[in-house]
Amino acid sequence: MTSNSRVVVIGAGLAGVRLARRLGELGTPAVLIGEEEHLPYNRVLLAEVLAGRYAPEVIALPAPAALVRARVTGIDRDRRTVACADGSEIAYDTLVLATGSNPVLPPLRGLFTPDHELPEGVHAFRTMDDCLGLSKAVRPGVRAVVIGGGLLGVSAARALAVRGAQVVLAQQSERLMERQLDPGASRLVLRHLKDLGVEVHTECRVRDVRCVGGAVRSVEMADGYALDADLVVLACGVSPRAGLAKNAGLAVHKGVLVDDELRTSDPHIRAIGDCAQHDGNVYGLAAPALEQADVLAEALTGNASARYTGTRALTRLTLNGHSAFDLAAFGETEARPGDDVVQLADATRGTYRKVVVRDDRLVGGVLVGELGTVGALARAWEGAEPLPDNGPLLHLLTNDGGS
Ligand SMILES: Cc1cc2nc3c(=O)[nH]c(=O)nc-3n(C[C@H](O)[C@H](O)[C@H](O)COP(=O)(O)OP(=O)(O)OC[C@H]3O[C@@H](n4cnc5c(N)ncnc54)[C@H](O)[C@@H]3O)c2cc1C
Repeated sequence: MTSNSRVVVIGAGLAGVRLARRLGELGTPAVLIGEEEHLPYNRVLLAEVLAGRYAPEVIALPAPAALVRARVTGIDRDRRTVACADGSEIAYDTLVLATGSNPVLPPLRGLFTPDHELPEGVHAFRTMDDCLGLSKAVRPGVRAVVIGGGLLGVSAARALAVRGAQVVLAQQSERLMERQLDPGASRLVLRHLKDLGVEVHTECRVRDVRCVGGAVRSVEMADGYALDADLVVLACGVSPRAGLAKNAGLAVHKGVLVDDELRTSDPHIRAIGDCAQHDGNVYGLAAPALEQADVLAEALTGNASARYTGTRALTRLTLNGHSAFDLAAFGETEARPGDDVVQLADATRGTYRKVVVRDDRLVGGVLVGELGTVGALARAWEGAEPLPDNGPLLHLLTNDGGS
């Protein structure tokens, strides 16, 4: 790439902002286009804003100067331009898609008004606008139903409970955060929410949203049971925002397909973050998005050997406040036959630590409440090196390795 070639980045979220900043530092300023009206912010911390712990400006990202506020509506690959909703056009030599994810809207009856809007009181939880909308609506005693018991649903339920809402969390599967946690850790998350007054229903499918005058009044379960609701939060997962890429004829599977140089099927277009699919993986997590941005900045500024080979992403959930709750999970948290498992649980302190070892390699673990060893464990897992042969496996949970 020549130094005067123009890099245009679509999406001013975690990945886009990091890339633009790194490119600026490396002497190749980029044009960053973002549709949200707020200053770029760290999405991971939205639940803390909803909980009232941080003001919105506290989670702002250091944004580069050249930020264009616009929504890109189309890519013309022949002319190498992007079209924006305001009618403007921006030319590129290299285009980077960093468009993130969309919330998954579950197939519920009554979820949309005749104008295809969400009814009043029903919110997704993805953007600062979602967060501010929820924040405005939540008051002590408000009845809130959170649909979905993954990382997002748990964070939302907790934040609303901290603000004094009467929260019911409806989770379709049999336990909370089942994608990341084993049953023992899920139980501690459940206990934490219950201690905050959240009512949790597992194996419970919501099928209907009932509205009066365009505003939500209740949600109905598959078994006909109805829950009164002034607020409903949809936390049913995310899907890569790949519509622009698809319409432009790029190869898209779950996300925009990229190779180790984060190149899409068009050599002039790259993709990073939640919208990208690398080696079969769509991560939907902050750490891979940032790592991809760093690798791409190197690649676009002349480092011919810069490659992205995947991220072993650790899930962290830190819920601060008067009843703090901290957990980290990585890899496979449930053992297969033949694996070694080391587990330490202290019900009184609400701590739980477990690692899974296969053929002398750490393949996964989960820590709740006591995270002293997380740095050393994450390094052992990321490195995928054989574990040192110098003591009982229990050391893995009790020796913090100076982290
Ligand atoms: C409430 C919440 C809590 C989370 N907690 C965690 C956590 O604890 N740990 C973790 O690892 N991850 C967490 N995540 C996920 C994490 O936020 C994402 O993985 C990360 O933000 C991905 O970065 P990104 O830049 O790819 O996408 P995003 O941060 O979503 O940014 C994409 C940006 O692109 C913009 N955009 C999209 N299309 C266009 C267009 N056509 N024109 C202009 N702009 C466009 C969007 O408006 C958005 O601003 C959380 C997410 C949420 C919502």
